[in-house]
Amino acid sequence: MNAPDPPLALLAELTHRCPLACPYCSNPLALERARDEMDSAQWRRVFDEAAQMGVLQVHFSGGEPAVRRDLEALVRHASSRELYTNLITSGVLLDAARIAELARAGLDHVQLSLQDSDGPNCDRIAGFDGAQARKFEVARLVRKAGLALTLNIVVHRQNLERLPAMIELALEFGAHRLEIAHVQYYGWALKNRAALLPTRAQLEAANAVADEARERLRGRLAIDYVVPDYYARRPKSCMGGWARRFINVTPSGKVLPCHAAETLPGLEFDSVRQRPLADIWRHSQAFQRFRGTDWMPEPCRSCERREIDWGGCRCQAFALTGDGANTDPACELSPHHGSLIEITEQTGAPPPPFHYRRFSSKAASGARPAEDARAPARTPSRV
Ligand code: SF4
Ligand code: SF4
Repeated sequence: MNAPDPPLALLAELTHRCPLACPYCSNPLALERARDEMDSAQWRRVFDEAAQMGVLQVHFSGGEPAVRRDLEALVRHASSRELYTNLITSGVLLDAARIAELARAGLDHVQLSLQDSDGPNCDRIAGFDGAQARKFEVARLVRKAGLALTLNIVVHRQNLERLPAMIELALEFGAHRLEIAHVQYYGWALKNRAALLPTRAQLEAANAVADEARERLRGRLAIDYVVPDYYARRPKSCMGGWARRFINVTPSGKVLPCHAAETLPGLEFDSVRQRPLADIWRHSQAFQRFRGTDWMPEPCRSCERREIDWGGCRCQAFALTGDGANTDPACELSPHHGSLIEITEQTGAPPPPFHYRRFSSKAASGARPAEDARAPARTPSRV
């Protein structure tokens, strides 16, 4: 195979620590501990290597990246390497001083998550008292600091009917973009699927709201909205295709082709602590495994869309069929598509309680960061 083009974007998961506990968190079920995180010098080297290999953007992510006291310094370093910098944050650990410092460090963009337009439900989903009030304040401060703002709202059966109010909030905040992201079901979200998967009626109503708002707000607010896989007829091009556009570095330095790749058995993940980033991108087993089209089974192998959607999501294929090399069941042509339809037909039952995303109590007591002490106590909220 020819050498691949460099990735466009690096997702830098600085830490898995987060004061929130969202039941759809994209972090793995086995969260990495504070003691295993790379230090500042190691992350700076990662950004140097990324810039050298042609990466254009760094997304500072987590967990909650603001848990790291060196966040501002890392943004400054990435920015000095001409990398476009985006902060993906829950907002709850930010204040005016930190936002101003991030802006001075060269931060280009903030992607702020919001769990719901309804305050009590926002806090309940986040598992954190006062989350919404803090997020509203941070949205205002981000705009005041002159930073570009995307509001990211993960939608599901327990907040979807408030989509019109969420769109109004994005306008009120002066956000440039609103990302309405349906939950993707692997890791924590898969564990919570019965509590999160919307009904078909909810989804159809939300589709109509999103279509109308996109038309009405054209030129004022960019709205990203994609029909969720479980109700789709064709899959999305997950991450722009395996190992084609994105590279993900975990807190401890493991390099993944996508943030959920560790759910797939049989993949070997190299570490930037041992091997250069560019070498991992080009040659490591995990990146080669599903790159391109050679790995594809039928019906993808002979399908005219094979270089459009790249067979969909490998993690979803594994989660639903037990084999990551199968066609994503979101595709109507997959022999497993019927199993998705069966799951969506069971959404009428009352939602079970959430399994909140938490470190195990043993791990949390040993690795609780000093920064967490500034945050309000986690609420023991339950559905
Ligand atoms: S999804 Fe929620 S719990 Fe997970 S990192 Fe983001 S804010 Fe924290
Ligand atoms: S068969 Fe494969 S390549 Fe074709 S549309 Fe379905 S998932 Fe995409």
